[in-house]
Amino acid sequence: MTEEAPHQPGPRGLLIVMTGASGVGKGTLRELWLKNQDVFYSVSWTTRTPREGERPGQDYHFVDAEHFLTGIGQDGFLEHAEFAGNHYGTPRGPIEAALEAGRDVVLEIEVKGAMQVRQATDEAILVFIMPPSLTELRRRLEGRATESPEQIERRLSRAREEILEAHAFDYVVMNDDLTRAVLDMHAIQRAERSRSARLSAQTLSEIVES
Ligand code: 5GP
Repeated sequence: MTEEAPHQPGPRGLLIVMTGASGVGKGTLRELWLKNQDVFYSVSWTTRTPREGERPGQDYHFVDAEHFLTGIGQDGFLEHAEFAGNHYGTPRGPIEAALEAGRDVVLEIEVKGAMQVRQATDEAILVFIMPPSLTELRRRLEGRATESPEQIERRLSRAREEILEAHAFDYVVMNDDLTRAVLDMHAIQRAERSRSARLSAQTLSEIVES
């Protein structure tokens, strides 16, 4: 009888965190970048009311504040933050399973949450999406017409603080040209996959012995 080879786990997936100001275009960029890729996109919980066209369970899990607080109490979030008067959080459960199975995991969250992910795990790759200017960001927020003027002002003042913290992230992608920004996201993902630290001793010995 031959002995069964011990189970060797394949390479872990990457944990990529897209962050940056509200209105900078993270969502559009993420959708184009992830098109035709088998990655796990983490759907957040939020207490915000759905915008027109938003799909529960795909864009967000829309929950009430009580539900959200229960989630916090059960340590159910990898990170969570308050933003413009609402709670947002990344459910912890599915992420580890996806990484373990070798799937890349993508989060799209605001800056305070991204910082919490950095504290929680050293495997997170933080990508800051930069607007070309605050004026352009205002134009985009006003054009989207989903927030009141007061909410836009709150989001812009938060954006200003966030941009000034851009050095805290691993990568910065300028979102002035969407096509180039998508290519930059692919480049980051590919480069991160090629890190020598991700090579297992098993892979190395297989290469030299074959
Ligand atoms: P919006 O209300 O425009 O959908 O989102 C407001 C901000 O919250 C955006 O910057 C968005 O990326 C961020 N956000 C969405 N989900 C999460 C989350 O789970 N955690 C954190 N910290 N921020 C989130």
